[in-house]
Amino acid sequence: MSATRVLVLNSGSSSLKYQLLDMRDGSRLASGLVERIGERSSRLKHTPPATGGRIREQSEPIADHDAALKAVAEELARDGLGLDSPELAAVGHRVVHGGKHFTRPTVIDDAVLAEIERLIPVAPLHNPANLTGIRTATALRPDVPQVAVFDTAFHTTMPEAAARYAIDVETADAHRVRRYGFHGTSHAYVSRATAKLLGRTPEEVNVIVLHLGNGASASAVEKGRCVDTSMGLTPLEGLVMGTRSGDADPAVIFHLARVGGMSIDEIDALLNKRSGLVGLCGDNDMREIRRRIDEGDERAQLAFDIYIHRLKKYIGAYYAVLGRVDAVAFTAGVGENAAPVRAAAVAGLESLGLAVDDALNAVRADEARLISPAGSRVAVAVVPTDEELEIATQTYALVKNTN
Ligand code: ADP
Repeated sequence: MSATRVLVLNSGSSSLKYQLLDMRDGSRLASGLVERIGERSSRLKHTPPATGGRIREQSEPIADHDAALKAVAEELARDGLGLDSPELAAVGHRVVHGGKHFTRPTVIDDAVLAEIERLIPVAPLHNPANLTGIRTATALRPDVPQVAVFDTAFHTTMPEAAARYAIDVETADAHRVRRYGFHGTSHAYVSRATAKLLGRTPEEVNVIVLHLGNGASASAVEKGRCVDTSMGLTPLEGLVMGTRSGDADPAVIFHLARVGGMSIDEIDALLNKRSGLVGLCGDNDMREIRRRIDEGDERAQLAFDIYIHRLKKYIGAYYAVLGRVDAVAFTAGVGENAAPVRAAAVAGLESLGLAVDDALNAVRADEARLISPAGSRVAVAVVPTDEELEIATQTYALVKNTN
């Protein structure tokens, strides 16, 4: 097949992130971000091919996703990478919620669109934006396959014992209440990249992946298949995150409603937007939190300690779920950059075979690397995630023999 370019789109409610990749070698031809779509001043940041080296930014109002994608197409055309090119093999869309149904990347047709729409009640913030992105891109290039890559797909291998909540089965099923998990594209990519770093195949290793970004989740990956993950029905469950609480007694909600007089929407906003690190200390950027800790700030220290305590509990839990662990992999903004988080998360776990070498942990690099002492029973690794490359790879694998 001659067409080898894949456009990856990640549509949020008021943003559009994109990357154009050449799948002959996975190289990035261009990338960028449109923010504040539909607001008074929008922002388009476009990074052209590496050889160009310039970043173009514009700040004019961009009314909707349709206008945003057209603006992106204009930028790409200026670089000789127009989306009308016969080189474009497919568009790969990040779709947050695929429910139980979508276990793999899927070429989008009307039935797929209808199913993504049917899942809106369980992903009210994300799926509508993803649908808008799909419709916009389809209108622009109706002749090119549009592929959905689901954040939930990698987790559909979880056994029922991990995926079900212990609540009345009929009620749960009637409302599709179960644990779906998210960040699946990242967990899939990083668990495979970790196996590669160890010189093994994914089927030969058990890996605990810690995706620590602004959103954060852990997963237990057994021989390449996810067997447990920390996010649940929504991305609220599990680890302490930038603005989300992660695990909390569900009765906190009843209490805040009955005793605190808060509405369900207020509690939703509290737990999703004003909790986690930001709720604990006012900052959600780990760099700022570390700076405050160095100055002796006690609230920042407490926020850090709560974050680490939860992380350590999940490492222990997934160690037990897997029975044997070959590697623990840190990834995403915090996992890739915050050496103190990595050191604190495994401190005291030497009897489980887990340790971090301080000198290796302090090294800053863009490549996947080991940070455990030589000869450790369990490898501890930093493995940069690349969700866009993974979406493009899955998209291209699906379409390359069909057009
Ligand atoms: P998102 O979930 O938005 O994709 P990222 O994976 O990009 O998030 O992670 C963003 C977070 O990574 C920031 O909020 C910050 O806490 C953390 N981070 C980024 N760079 C560093 C760094 N150099 N040191 C410590 N933390 C960092």
